[in-house]
Amino acid sequence: MSYEGEMLKKMRMPARKEVEEALLKTLIKHNGTIKEFATGEEIVDELADLFSLNEEQRSAVLERIYRKENRVVKTPLWHRLLYRAADSLARNKLVTRPTKTINLTNKREWMLTERGYDFGLRLLKIPSTQKDILPIKSFEVQKLVNKIKSSPKPEKYDPFENRMRKRTVTKTLNIRSRVFRQVVIESYDYRCSVCGLKINSPDNLYWEVEAAHIVPHSKKGKDDIWNGIALCRLHHWAFDVGWFSLTDDYKILLSTGYDKLPNDYGKIGNIDFFKNAITPNKPLLLPEIKSLKPDKASIQWHRKNIFYK
Ligand SMILES: [Zn+2]
Repeated sequence: MSYEGEMLKKMRMPARKEVEEALLKTLIKHNGTIKEFATGEEIVDELADLFSLNEEQRSAVLERIYRKENRVVKTPLWHRLLYRAADSLARNKLVTRPTKTINLTNKREWMLTERGYDFGLRLLKIPSTQKDILPIKSFEVQKLVNKIKSSPKPEKYDPFENRMRKRTVTKTLNIRSRVFRQVVIESYDYRCSVCGLKINSPDNLYWEVEAAHIVPHSKKGKDDIWNGIALCRLHHWAFDVGWFSLTDDYKILLSTGYDKLPNDYGKIGNIDFFKNAITPNKPLLLPEIKSLKPDKASIQWHRKNIFYK
C-alpha cells in the first residue's frame, strides 16, 4: 500500500467514493460551483463537517520529498483526498476542473456538468422535473449564458420564434429554457426589476424571482434576454395579466383600471397592498450591461396586446 493509502487508513479517513458523492451533493447546494480546495477555504471545512472529521483528521499532513529540490512538501491529507475525489469526478465528466471553469467565471472553481447535475439530483432524491426550476449552474448552460451576455444585441430584433422552425428535441428545449432563466435572473442580479425584491429559500436553492417572457411563450415569444425581464411572483402575475406595462424608456405604465379597484380589493389587513405595489412612472431596475435591456419590439407588443388600458 502506498504511503498516502496507509495514511488514509491510519487516520480512518472516509472512502474516496463517499467523498465523491458528498462533493456532488455539496455542488448542488452551492448552485453548481465550489471553490478550489485551499487552506482556509470554508468549503474544505464544510465538507469535513459532513463526515464529522475530528481535529486530528483535519490537520493530518502528508510529507513528500521533492527529490529534485531535495525539500519536504507538506500537503494536508484532507485536501489531498478532496482533490482526488474531484479529479475522479472530472475524469468521469461529472464536473469541470478549475483550470477550465476559470475561463467562464474568472474564478478557480469546480463546476457541475449536465451529467453531474443529473447525478447530484439523483443522490439527493430530487425529482428531475426540478432541473428546470433550480438555479443550478452547469458548465454547458453557463457557456451559453456567457455567450449571450457578451454578444451584441441584434440590430433588427424580432421577439417571435421563427414559426417555420421545427421543434427540436426536448433536451435542447430544456437547456434553452434554463439558459433563458439563468441569463435573465443573473443579469438583473436576482432581483425584481419593478420592486427590487431579492430573496431566496433558507437552503439557498430557490430564488423567489422569476424570468418572465414579455411576449409570452404561448404567443411564440422568444426565450432570450431581449424578450425577458426579471420579476417577483406578484409583479410577474400583474405583468402577464396586463395590470401594468412599460414605456419605451423603461418606466412603469399603470392600467387605468387600477384606480377603479373596489376598496376591499388587494388588501393585507388595513394596508392597500396591491395598490401600493405598482408605482406609475417608476423607472425599471435594468441590467448593468446595457445591451441586455429588453427590446422595444417586445415591450411595444406587450403594450398593444396584453396591457389593460
Ligand atoms: Zn416585484
